[in-house]
Amino acid sequence: MWGLIATWRMSKDGVEKGIETLKRNGSAGEAIEIAIQEVENYPLFKSVGFGGLPNEEMEVELDAAYMDGDTLDVGSIMAIKDFANPISIAKKLSKEKVNCVLVSSGAEKYAQKAGFERKNMLTNRAQAFYNEKKHLIDRNDLKAYDGHDTVGMVCLDNDNKIVSATSTSGLFMKKKGRVGDSPLIGSGFYADSQIGGATATGLGEDLMKGCISYEIVRLMKDGYSPQEACEKAVLDLDYELRTRRKEAGDLSVVAMNCNGEWGAATNISEFSCVVQTEKENLEVYVIKNNNGIIEKIVADEAWTEEYMKNEIGYVDEEKWGK
Ligand code: ASP
Repeated sequence: MWGLIATWRMSKDGVEKGIETLKRNGSAGEAIEIAIQEVENYPLFKSVGFGGLPNEEMEVELDAAYMDGDTLDVGSIMAIKDFANPISIAKKLSKEKVNCVLVSSGAEKYAQKAGFERKNMLTNRAQAFYNEKKHLIDRNDLKAYDGHDTVGMVCLDNDNKIVSATSTSGLFMKKKGRVGDSPLIGSGFYADSQIGGATATGLGEDLMKGCISYEIVRLMKDGYSPQEACEKAVLDLDYELRTRRKEAGDLSVVAMNCNGEWGAATNISEFSCVVQTEKENLEVYVIKNNNGIIEKIVADEAWTEEYMKNEIGYVDEEKWGK
């Protein structure tokens, strides 16, 4: 049994590539790396890899992580600049016994030594977007942190291995050095081949308060289905945050267990995910939260058009070029 689930509609092309790899009997590790690279390389998505939106100082600082559910190996890089594929660096780091979590210049030094491709990840378009929004932020018309979304994936291969991985530019206009949940084990991702895997997207500062990805895997270990585990983890954390802090940031998750069953949940009005398994064709789902009731709806054309407009809608090629 194989399967791949990913956060957000932007992952669709990547998931297709990952699935081709799984069908050729490639490993979950290979499939997830290829799938995430595809999203990282696409210049029009503003929250992952090349084209990702910059921090307050107009630098694109990227976070990524990789976890092997057989060995529990983890590799993670945080706030790395000027490398093309953070996911591949995190994957390589996961093979290290120590020093497998590296930040900033330490991560860059490691990547340089290991021969990873250097690349200026700030596109003209992201720079123009920054310039355009900067004065809105100064005028308080735009909430800093609008414009984020992480690609997070969980993959199961024919050898029953589960891998989970993430890649993100984090929050737009974040402070230099700010790190969210995405590269933090248990918060942004977790994988255990004997149970399943999970990954998260949303406000990192809140997702990490519930170690939400680990919590989902723990719930699946206790017998919850992936859907039940996702819903319980999201709704419980949302409740705790609202009760204790009066508000909860965006919390969205996906999970897959070792039988290829999957789940997704959110505390916002709309989140999307992409999934394909040996038993189910590739589909984009819109996940809705209606007063605590989670609905999963297959995305239609009108929804997709709207999503693409919102996701890459600031594109004005005449003005900013590619
Ligand atoms: N969770 C990411 C972060 O806080 C952002 C996102 O997924 O939207 O960095």
